[in-house]
Amino acid sequence: MERENPLDFKDVYGQDFVKRAALIAAAGRHNLLMIGPPGSGKTMIAKRIPGILPEMTFEEQMEISKIYSVAGLLSKEKPYIRERPFRDPHHTTTKQALAGGGRVPKPGEISLASGGVLFLDELAEFKRETIEVLRQPLEEGYVNIARAEGNYRYPAKCQLIAATNPCKCGFYPDRRKCVCRDWQIRSYLDRISGPMLERIDLCVEMQPLDYQDFLGTRGSRKSEKTETTAEIRKKVMQAYLVQTERYAKESFLNNASIPSNLLERYCPLTKEAEEYISEIFASLELSARVYHKILKVARTIADLSGSLQIERPHIAEAVLYRMVDKKYWGGGIHG
Ligand SMILES: [Zn+2]
Repeated sequence: MERENPLDFKDVYGQDFVKRAALIAAAGRHNLLMIGPPGSGKTMIAKRIPGILPEMTFEEQMEISKIYSVAGLLSKEKPYIRERPFRDPHHTTTKQALAGGGRVPKPGEISLASGGVLFLDELAEFKRETIEVLRQPLEEGYVNIARAEGNYRYPAKCQLIAATNPCKCGFYPDRRKCVCRDWQIRSYLDRISGPMLERIDLCVEMQPLDYQDFLGTRGSRKSEKTETTAEIRKKVMQAYLVQTERYAKESFLNNASIPSNLLERYCPLTKEAEEYISEIFASLELSARVYHKILKVARTIADLSGSLQIERPHIAEAVLYRMVDKKYWGGGIHG
């Protein structure tokens, strides 16, 4: 059955690297951060991600509908939720609206996005303390609200898709256009904390606009075939079925949710891949959490290519998606 979704990936020209990251993110339910200048297509891509996700199972529909019911968001016209949610709270949103709470506790955006996408546009514009409330729920898949009369627990099984400008003016690292001083760029990026970045599985940089313009004016790119949402979803579905089968006896459904004690079982590496990742681990001084993220993303890349074992190229690609945050947040900003 074709789903109704007017937003198609075929309308996004260029940005192939970012689209590849969106495919991987969707296939394994990984969190994704896109960084780049305004107008480079970050929002366009984010809004198209629900369209490439597999349809919700009946159990998922019931679980999500329950959250919406508690939040008072169901009606006679809309008695339950069938499509994966896409929630995009504004950066002025409060901690409580994001995580849930209130005198009579209600689920927040992170719970309303369960089973779907929580899109945080302009991530660096959010108050730091507001974003920080997402750390625990993103890790655990639920949110706890303590009240005198007892604890409330809401599911928070969403996928975080975030976008940010690299600086206040939006054009760093293009020094011809960026008018910010180094310290301003650093303090802008510092609004996104290290621990928050560690919860991101893939971090990608948008291609510069003039490169896009160049492709547009030459017209060569537009005549080339861009993948449609239906085509990308087919790939996602393949990887999704592999995961459903692999995790049939587990309490989780996808690669992003593999608990660390089961990584060894579910992420078997070839000898080459193993040597490679230990080299990377030492040279990039990765934290255990980031190391685990790389393994999980590599698991999804291997699934997309139909490989049982994780091979060296899968690791190499997964590492690529960690190099961008090193570039921006690794202390390497110099005029
Ligand atoms: Zn700037």
